Order: sequence, then C-alpha cells, then structure tokens
Amino acid sequence: MRKPVRFILTFLILGPAFVSADTGKWHFFDKKPVEVYLTGRFDILDLAGLKIDIDSVRDNVLLAYVTEEEFKTLQSRGVYINWVPDAEKITRDLQLQTTRSSQQIKTGEFYHTYEELSAELQAVASDNPDLCLLESAGQTVQGRELWWIKISDNVDTEEEEPEFHYIATMHGNEPVGTELCLRLINYLVDYYNVSPRITELINNTEIWIMPLMNPDGYTAGSRYNANGVNLNRNFPDQVADPVNTTAGREPETSAIMNWALMHSPTLSANFHSGALVVSYPWDGRIDLDGDDNPDLNPDNDLFVNIAEAYAILNEPMYNGQFYHGISIGQQWYPIYGGMQDWAYVWIGCNEVTIELHDTKWPDPSLIPVIWEDNREAMITYIEQSHIGIRGVVTDAVTGTPIPAEVCVNGIDHSVYTDPQVGNYHRMLLPGTYTLNFYADGYISQEREIAVTPGAAAILDVQLLTGNTKTGGGGGCFVGVVIGKEPKKTSMFQSGNN
Ligand SMILES: [Zn+2]
Repeated sequence: MRKPVRFILTFLILGPAFVSADTGKWHFFDKKPVEVYLTGRFDILDLAGLKIDIDSVRDNVLLAYVTEEEFKTLQSRGVYINWVPDAEKITRDLQLQTTRSSQQIKTGEFYHTYEELSAELQAVASDNPDLCLLESAGQTVQGRELWWIKISDNVDTEEEEPEFHYIATMHGNEPVGTELCLRLINYLVDYYNVSPRITELINNTEIWIMPLMNPDGYTAGSRYNANGVNLNRNFPDQVADPVNTTAGREPETSAIMNWALMHSPTLSANFHSGALVVSYPWDGRIDLDGDDNPDLNPDNDLFVNIAEAYAILNEPMYNGQFYHGISIGQQWYPIYGGMQDWAYVWIGCNEVTIELHDTKWPDPSLIPVIWEDNREAMITYIEQSHIGIRGVVTDAVTGTPIPAEVCVNGIDHSVYTDPQVGNYHRMLLPGTYTLNFYADGYISQEREIAVTPGAAAILDVQLLTGNTKTGGGGGCFVGVVIGKEPKKTSMFQSGNN
C-alpha cells in the first residue's frame, strides 16, 4: 500500500489548488500543453496522483495539459516543466484557412467537419437501410448529436449475437479515429455480399460505431468537452470514484453509460492519437489489494492476446515504442476515470484503448496511409468478439430470457446476459472452464465446458426458480472484490439514472 499512501500525502501538501475535492472533474477551461522532463517513474505516479492531465509519455518526456496555477506549483516543487505550442490547435486553424483541393476531396485526405460527418452517416444509413441504423446516444453540452451507427443484418432487431463497439475521438484534438471509423463503416457496407469474410462478420455480429464522441471539443480544436472536462477521466473508477451512476457526470459520458446499460457489449475499443499502442486494463489500479505487487486484470492473458491481434497487423505500431505495440495502461501512465476500466469493471465488456498515430492531428495527406495500417487490424479485432463461450439463459419453464450474471471459476470477472435477448458472450482463450450462472430468484447452475480455437462454444442454460444460491446471494464475487460494489444484476439494471 506504499504508493496510495504517497498519493494522499502529496495531496495534503499541495491542497485543493489543483482540483476540486469531488470526483476528479476538471474544472478548468484554460489548460495548455506542457512537457515535463522525468527523472524516474516516481514523477509519473506523483503527477497522476495529483490528477494532472497526462496525455502521453515518450523517452522520459511527458506531455500533459495544465493550468497556469498548476504550472507554477509544479515549477516551485522543482519539476522540470516547459510550455509547448498547441500543435493540434495550430494544425486545425491552418486547415480551416486552407481550401480543400479537388484531389484531396477525391482521395479523402481531409478531416470531416461535424456537419459533414453527420451528413455522411445519414447518407450511409439511408442508402443501406437493411444493414445500417443511425441513432443518437444523446446530445453534447452544446447540443450536437452523439451518432451511433449500428451495422448488422436484421439491423432493426436485437439478435443473439455478440455486440461490439468502436468509439473515436473522445479527445476532440485527436481526430484520426473519426476518419478511420468513417472509412470502416463504408468498407463494411461496400463489401457486404462481396467479401465472404465481411458478410459473415456482419451476419453474426452487432457492430456499433461512434466516430465522434466529443464533437464540441473537436469543433473547437480542444481535448476537452465544452465544460472543460476530459471525458476519459469522467467515468466511474474502481479506485477513485467507485459509484456506477451517471449522476454529476458530463452528458457525453452519461450517454455512453446509458447505452451500455441497455446493451451487453462483449468487446470494444476507443481510438486516440498521440502515440502508437494498444493499451488494456488496468489504467488506474496499481496495487489495490495491497500485496505490494502490481495488480493484473483477471483476464490479463486474454487481453495480451487480443491487443497483440490488433498490433501485429499494424507494422509501425508493432515495431514502435512499445514491445509488440501493447502495454498495460498503468504501466505507461496511470489514469483514473477512463472509459476502458469502467467498461471492464461494470459492463463486463473487454475494452482496449488504441493510439493510432504518433502525432495527434497528422497531416490529412496521411489519412489513407494510416487507414491502410489499421484496416486489417480493425476488422480482425471485431472478429475477436467471437472467441470463447456463448449462449442464452432462459427460464426453464416459460422459456423467457433472464437477466443473469455469468462467472468463470478462478477468474474474478463477470459478464451479463443481454436484458432483452438473454444472450451472453464470455470471451476466453482455449481451455476447459467451469461456469456459474446466477439470476435473482433462480437456482444457480454450474457447468463445465471446453473452449477450442475459433468460433465460440455454445452453452445455453435453463434456470429453475428457487433460492438464488449458496454464499449469501447476489452474484459471483460478493465480498471478494476490493474497491467496488458487487455487480449484482439488479444493481446493473437499476443503476441507470
Ligand atoms: Zn486521447
């Protein structure tokens, strides 16, 4: 517990000048980029504990965003720190002043505005009504829509298929992911019934893509939303803010949370830029169980596998700054309130964070190259949602789907059935596993099943009404998991406010 104690001490010394005492929201609108020169890992933990908005770390130089006040305080503490130009804002302003050439328009070497993006998504959806459904997850602070496009066969119905999602550009100054998502949407639609592989993927997966999670920030050339909040520090967090409600959160954050509560996503990724890496949980948790060893997420081997499945197909990423192009989030630098840890802890969804390019806002002429570097990886990553075990949990008498929790013996991480269809999908590497199925008001059931490489093993389960289970009731790991409330299905469904 050495490190957490250190956080608390530093916090007391510096006091509330840095951040309000609430859930870690960033209240400042005037944060600007700085470089911090690191003398050791100690500095990163120090800054993370102080809730300094760290963006990336490379070669002992850390990029962060700070207010004037934070800058002065850090400097007075002897931290080597320099203001640096806001390169993304400069690039964006230059692009706004430059007229696009017909060649650029033809090759797609430009960044869409929010209005152009909205129009293109509407066009794709109306041109492909059998494959695409466009819906808004909600509105931003400034009233822009948070567009989801769902791609699937039978797109209007919730089917017994794994749900997958990509979300891009929650940091408004990292727009590469938006362009790649747009290209992916067009690619999937264009190759349906042309490529057997794409056809099979769309027929058997519910693919959700949100190309732009922070349109207000993007339009302003800002990392933050219109309230000056870093959305990737605004989610519930098992270490810093372990209450899974939308109360007091930003509208963009709440929209994602509400969507996820209505669905049961299996696998996802969120896109950023400013580095080249796939990072995976934990982002924030370092040593919560206090055994003086770094905590690995319970599915660490699985995450290494799926992160590498992406990185190995992206040559610059695989051969870049990080070994095999992957990293545990907190081993790069810790963050609290990120979407990735939240999705894994509370939604049961395996999420990674993908940094697409060493610069945040690469020259638009590079967009086609970056797309080529990522196209195969993006498709292969969606396919990963099909590994493991899947099935439907129903009432043994009535046959109706049941909201249930599905646990694997020896792995402290549950997944949940889709509330509408009753299907679950537990991603697992090949091996033999014992699964437990829990639902309020039903007798729990234990089943053993072998997982082989390739498509998921099918295990449908029928539960009989009766006493829930031995061990106190209410789910798989009650009293075992440190730092978070038990993930009861009843809480999971009523947590939406
Ligand atoms: Zn980012």
